[in-house]
Amino acid sequence: MKELNFDTKAIREGYRTTAEQEHSEAIFLTSSFVFDSAEQAAKRFSKEEPGNIYARFTNPTVDAFEKKLAALEGAQACVATSSGMAAIFATLMALLKTGDHIVASRNMFGTSIVLLNTIISKFGVSVSFVDLSDLNAWENSINDNTKLFLLETPSNPLGQVVDLLALSKIAKANDILLAVDNAILTPALQKPLELGADIVIHSATKYIDGQGRCLAGAVLGNEDIIEQVHGFVRTTGPSLSAFNAWIVLKGLDTLRLRMNAHCDNALTLATWLEKQPAVEKVHYLGLKSHPHHQLAKNQQAGFGGIVSFEIKGGQQAAFNIINATEIFSITANLGDTKSTITHPATTTHGRLTDEEKLSANISESLIRISVGLEDVNDLIDDINKGL
Ligand SMILES: *Cc1c(COP(=O)(O)O)cnc(C)c1O
Repeated sequence: MKELNFDTKAIREGYRTTAEQEHSEAIFLTSSFVFDSAEQAAKRFSKEEPGNIYARFTNPTVDAFEKKLAALEGAQACVATSSGMAAIFATLMALLKTGDHIVASRNMFGTSIVLLNTIISKFGVSVSFVDLSDLNAWENSINDNTKLFLLETPSNPLGQVVDLLALSKIAKANDILLAVDNAILTPALQKPLELGADIVIHSATKYIDGQGRCLAGAVLGNEDIIEQVHGFVRTTGPSLSAFNAWIVLKGLDTLRLRMNAHCDNALTLATWLEKQPAVEKVHYLGLKSHPHHQLAKNQQAGFGGIVSFEIKGGQQAAFNIINATEIFSITANLGDTKSTITHPATTTHGRLTDEEKLSANISESLIRISVGLEDVNDLIDDINKGL
């Protein structure tokens, strides 16, 4: 059969039924699996015969999710994890050892930075942070022991982008693995492996579930890499539960439709915000005013659902807008059908020092919106209340 298109894979890949011939994928809520005989058990354990043994290693519902996500990212293999942080931690622990060095983007999810600074560092793995878009900084930070580049593109909340193809060439020339956290765009809008990345990491908690119901994560790459990460997961235990796997598996069915709708709503809201006199600056990659608009257009199939903007009048003005909303949820979560609104300087980025906030451009007047799938005119009216 010829290679199927994205939306068909999103609905059909990994699909199989049991003897009951159920049409919707079953949830295999079982911790272990039985064998026909002692001989079969021996074969399963020695890997002579493929098959399930214990749900910390494999589970059919989890397997269906892994196969489908791998098909969508164009990866040879995938291992699912209990959360996005578990996916990042498992990747680092499986592939690195004491003495190795990581170059990481400064503009990553806050907990990823904390993980590198407080936990990974305990194991004698050193980290240098660079500005995401600065290719020279990435190249100049390479040491003899640099093993991994780690980043998110676009960054959240300001939407900085790095040229993945150019960065992957630098990585390859220096025998460094390039790992990209693709949670903000998902494979519906960006495929890092096609742009030269070696590893894609997901917090499936965000857009892949898309409805704020559960935590889940995944790591994707070639078979050799994923075997190592799977080895770490099955031994240390951050495996994805069958129930959560079923939720994110179902989320993938509608992924592209939802991402396109998030993009449409975000662009409409951002375009409207840019025209408001009380708004100082809007950061959305879909706007021509964004410095990385053209780069994003080249390597992404859409600009995503995160819009941030600066309001005239500082922190109090920002708080007033947030407090005046009646539809938006005041929460730091993102990637939900429900729109969320937050003040990064005092929440997601509250741990940063004033200097770090300044260098990351997180000002007191900045508001971040994760644009959901409500009617965008209602969202505009809701923001307008505080303006
Ligand atoms: C939320 C998030 C994570 C962490 O994922 P969890 O599922 O909450 O552990 C990692 N990276 C990005 C980009 C995220 O938005």
